[in-house]
Amino acid sequence: MPSVTSLSLRASESLSGLTLAAAEKYKPDIVPGISELFQLNDRVAIVTGGSRGLGEEMAEGLAEAGASLMLCARRAEWLTPTVDAMRARGFKAEGALCDVSKPSDVQAVVDKTIAVYGRVDILVNNAGVTWAAEPEDMPLDKWQKVVDVNLTGAFLFAQAAGRDMLKRQHGRIVNIASIAGMHASVAGPHYAAYAATKAGLIGLTRELAVSWARKGIRVNAIAPGFFHSRLADGAIAMNEASIKASSPIPRVGDAGELKGVAVFLAADASNYITGQTIVVDGGRTIA
Ligand code: NAP
Repeated sequence: MPSVTSLSLRASESLSGLTLAAAEKYKPDIVPGISELFQLNDRVAIVTGGSRGLGEEMAEGLAEAGASLMLCARRAEWLTPTVDAMRARGFKAEGALCDVSKPSDVQAVVDKTIAVYGRVDILVNNAGVTWAAEPEDMPLDKWQKVVDVNLTGAFLFAQAAGRDMLKRQHGRIVNIASIAGMHASVAGPHYAAYAATKAGLIGLTRELAVSWARKGIRVNAIAPGFFHSRLADGAIAMNEASIKASSPIPRVGDAGELKGVAVFLAADASNYITGQTIVVDGGRTIA
């Protein structure tokens, strides 16, 4: 019995000259469904700086999509309640105290992840710090700390997790950059080390992407605009009027406006995307 589709195609053949074979040629046999493309069941994700703020939100998104979590941060007073809250929601979650600027700490987190879950599929390099100062006043030790955490820490984690991902030729790395790495603001805040490291992360994203694309690892970045957090609230308080005036969507980012992007970049939905930076800033950098 011919299908309705083939009957209607045959009916139109005489009008258009289109043959059934020609029409079928452009119809793939299997197109994954949208829930399959965004699900992360059985995937294992490390989120650095996952104890609060944007890292906590993105970790929650990955867990809601099915991933098992390893959250790391320096301080137990932030990390432990977050891990407990994730578990209370039924998510698989572990925590590890870690300073991302210390190679031995980084390797210990990757080792613990493999010991608990067997592998690392997803790495979100989110841990970050900042130091606001005019360039002429920037203390060298503060410059160094921001570089060590934001840039060297992300590289160390990509290297340690990447070595495990390379064994299976499968992995996704998401680096949390910032619009501070893409544009500067006359009004401020002025934070030379922060801006330099975030621009560096965007370059690191491209370099890791080309190094590993043919080995099954995709590397992308997210560049958020302003979102309320412990790190950003001081800058937002000083600049909210100018953020609103210069952003096409005239507000700071809301809770929930980042985790969908993180899940997208970690999931099969973005399988043909690597080396890119997705800007989530209400249009601030295009205005
Ligand atoms: P946050 O609330 O201060 O969170 C920072 C997280 O990083 C915390 O979990 C913190 O935990 C952890 N962390 C800091 N230093 C660390 C270290 N050396 N080793 C391990 N973990 C460390 O700030 P946030 O706003 O959510 O920032 C998260 C990321 O988003 C940062 O990379 C930031 O640059 C980026 N970002 C934020 C905004 C924004 O508007 N909020 C905009 C653009 C980009 P401990 O302090 O306990 O270590």
